[in-house]
Amino acid sequence: MIDNCGRTIDYMRISVTDLCNLRCRYCMGEEGVCKKTHQEMMSAEEIVTAVKAAAGLGIRKIRITGGEPLVKRNIVSICRNIASVEGIEEVCMTTNGILLPDMAEELRAAGVTRLNLSLDTLDAERYAFITRRGDLQQFFDGLEAALSAGFDKIKINVVLIGGFNDDEIRPLAELTLKYPVDVRFIELMPMYDSGDFDEKAFIFSECVLQELPELEKAKQDGGVAKLYRLPGAKGNIGLISPISAHFCSSCNRIRLTADGKIKPCLHSSEEYSLKGMDLAGMKQVMELAVFHKPQWHGVLDAHNRSEAGRWMNQIGG
Ligand code: SAM
Ligand code: SF4
Repeated sequence: MIDNCGRTIDYMRISVTDLCNLRCRYCMGEEGVCKKTHQEMMSAEEIVTAVKAAAGLGIRKIRITGGEPLVKRNIVSICRNIASVEGIEEVCMTTNGILLPDMAEELRAAGVTRLNLSLDTLDAERYAFITRRGDLQQFFDGLEAALSAGFDKIKINVVLIGGFNDDEIRPLAELTLKYPVDVRFIELMPMYDSGDFDEKAFIFSECVLQELPELEKAKQDGGVAKLYRLPGAKGNIGLISPISAHFCSSCNRIRLTADGKIKPCLHSSEEYSLKGMDLAGMKQVMELAVFHKPQWHGVLDAHNRSEAGRWMNQIGG
């Protein structure tokens, strides 16, 4: 699909659930989610139908996310069914990794080829604080399981938070010396209700370059991250800058929420429901959403919060 700004849209992120086994402070409220009724959420069959509709319109890459995708019932068969849809060339997943020890091999066998794992600190107490409940060892058990399962690519996503983990940039980056993974530093996005974070928390990804002067430019892969490498590393360092250098002009994605709304822009309140529709109806909704995809999402900073109208776990980061 080509949108009305001339951008090719070939990537869909699907939040398969808004439930999560963690409660990261920048992503969702402490109380979790107000569990919607089963009928209000996309069924496994509807998710696969939506992928067929999207593939028919030119979507080639799918990212499964959430909430935590691995807490979704039947997630392995959902991935398998998505991977077998004609036209879908790549199925990736973003996960907090906690449940990977039991699921990594099955996911790989189901056709998921790339994983992004989220980790904001190497300190167990900080990890428990930022996730409001997580156990850092479980993350590393998940990482080891993912490495053994033979995914084509594993990336670790670090949300940069001033006053929380800006003193850990070097040790986090040095994970690329120890493991064959990329580490990507992502600027904290001011979701509409993430009141825990004041101005000091919103730091720019440039600070990674100051902290690691030895970084060398790496071959760019066409993605949203600017890529660098530590000398001798097994993987790249990526800087993702939605705040300091938004990438709206090259945005190639739409999102499908767990309750069946197409969001053409992460930070806009515009949503188009396809819940309960058949394949033809879903296609029409997707075309409408792409037609109305905003040109850009406006200024985002500590004072100008996202207009998404949802927490990140309800959209799919
Ligand atoms: N539960 C999975 C996980 O944590 O990887 C997938 C869903 S989570 C919403 C996807 C990604 O969004 C995570 O890497 C998370 O760190 C990121 N994220 C959530 N809220 C964010 C925010 N306010 N700013 C930047 N990244 C955010
Ligand atoms: Fe859950 Fe991922 Fe959000 Fe953390 S970032 S609360 S792990 S959905």
